Amino acid sequence: MKDKSPPGDTITFLGTGGARIMVSSQILASGGLWLNLGGTEILLDPGPGCIVQSTKRKLRGNKLSAIILSHRHLDHSGDVNVMIEAMTQGGFNPHGWLFTPADALETEPVIFSYLKDYLEGIEILKEGKSYSIGNVSFTTPIRHIHPVETYGMLFRTGEHTFSYITDSRYFNGLCRSYASELLIMNVVFLRDSPPADHLTVSDARHIVAEVKPKVAILTHFGMTMWQAKPWEIAQRLSQETGIRVIAARDGMRFDLSQLD
Ligand SMILES: [Zn+2]
Repeated sequence: MKDKSPPGDTITFLGTGGARIMVSSQILASGGLWLNLGGTEILLDPGPGCIVQSTKRKLRGNKLSAIILSHRHLDHSGDVNVMIEAMTQGGFNPHGWLFTPADALETEPVIFSYLKDYLEGIEILKEGKSYSIGNVSFTTPIRHIHPVETYGMLFRTGEHTFSYITDSRYFNGLCRSYASELLIMNVVFLRDSPPADHLTVSDARHIVAEVKPKVAILTHFGMTMWQAKPWEIAQRLSQETGIRVIAARDGMRFDLSQLD
């Protein structure tokens, strides 16, 4: 099989849906993010359907160097086991790393224990730590406010910086932790006073205005966001902040050279 991986740094959205109702209906897919950073391929938050969404786009599990879970919730980890099998070709080609908060491995683990032997190793994510995968490094600057142990990430490639603000209730630490050229944010709720620990549109507006990235991408939409047309919300946020804000689409591939 020929290597069809694109050169440079790209992020493919294998889903843009988040939270229970959206994931159950699959109106929007929930496969996570596939990073190709100078040829190093990393899978972030493989939610339900990741194996389908990745294979149909000719993204090859066996090319992955690592899988990262921001937290153990189903919409972020539903396909982690099958993706470890895909990465290691069912254990016939053991390699690759899993990065995860400790509680995904503890009582009621979300990772089957037999898969651990297929991996090169498991690294436990902790607040304020740095990690590296080939030519890519990332930090988990701050623990989020979410019902389980949850970390976002700030990535550094040779060329670019970008951050992933995964699920969290808003708190001041988010703005100072994720300064980067590109900001990817999980925005589940349309309206303020959210019924669960997730960001809303006004949180997103505030974070974009504070962090001032070159580009911000909204994703992980719940039903209220979807019904309000995320692309229209993104356009409004662009006007209000003066920063280019994009609503991710299922299958969208963002090339980080757009930041140059
Ligand atoms: Zn969550």
